[in-house]
Amino acid sequence: MSMRNFFRPTGRLLVFGLGLACALSPSAIGQSCGSQGIAVQVLGSGGPELPDKRASSRYRVWEDGQARALIDAGGGSALRFGESGATMSQLDVILFSHLHVDHSGDFPVLVKSSWFEDRKRPLPIYGPPGNEYFPSTREFVYDFFGDKRGAYRYLSELLVAGEDGSYKLQPHNVAAGSMPVAVFSNGALTASAVRVIHGGVPALAWRVELHGKSIVLSGDTNGDGEGLVRLANNADLFVAHNAVPEGATGVERRLHMPPSVIGQIAENAHVKNLVLSHRMLRTLGKESQTEAEIRKHYSGPLTFANDLNCFPVK
Ligand SMILES: [Zn+2]
Repeated sequence: MSMRNFFRPTGRLLVFGLGLACALSPSAIGQSCGSQGIAVQVLGSGGPELPDKRASSRYRVWEDGQARALIDAGGGSALRFGESGATMSQLDVILFSHLHVDHSGDFPVLVKSSWFEDRKRPLPIYGPPGNEYFPSTREFVYDFFGDKRGAYRYLSELLVAGEDGSYKLQPHNVAAGSMPVAVFSNGALTASAVRVIHGGVPALAWRVELHGKSIVLSGDTNGDGEGLVRLANNADLFVAHNAVPEGATGVERRLHMPPSVIGQIAENAHVKNLVLSHRMLRTLGKESQTEAEIRKHYSGPLTFANDLNCFPVK
């Protein structure tokens, strides 16, 4: 046992329920994902602004009451993860869309919590490669938990081969283009990705499939290119980011897709259900305008997400 294990409790932490956030959704969608079937739970429906009173971006794929995949880990979403009743030991994989703070800031919080669980199997982590301004996903994880220079090097046993006492994080960089590429499969669950355009930020959109159901998450993107339409083709559920209103210009538009583009992508991909998330101060309160723009292109089900909303995938 390493010195770092000295303070590890022998049993699982008791997690005291904090109560679910009040139901803000205008729809009849409940807060609990239940114990049956496949569902996506929105653990963070906001963007980077704290005054939006929402956790930043994170989604969880449920199967029969178990958390199977996490997509992103924005600030505040670790608390939502705990509130939802999930544990890190249940996860098959973590997928990052990109490494902006509002999509990754709670990652070390999750990892630290997992250290108190009895997880044995490795935890694969996939995300974009780096560039001049962003670390790759591997660098990002090593920047936290690497034994030499990691900010939280006291937890390096979670990452470094040969250090005993913990399961291992397994970070990977995904060099995807505009054609969907299969990234992860464990037999039951598969994940594939395309590169999406989010200004100069290396970014991915993800498609998760299990038991014939498909869930696509746009991540942050301005909607340029064909990759996202290809990835979202016939998706049972498409989660798109509503970060800017119609008419956005300049840097906002270079980073994000306005509602009309969301509607075009949803229609061109023939998605069966559309959920809008990553709601920011500049789009909150403009839901009727947003919906009207989307409705010019897409006529299927549409819901504005709030934290902890659960969307069954049927
Ligand atoms: Zn974002």
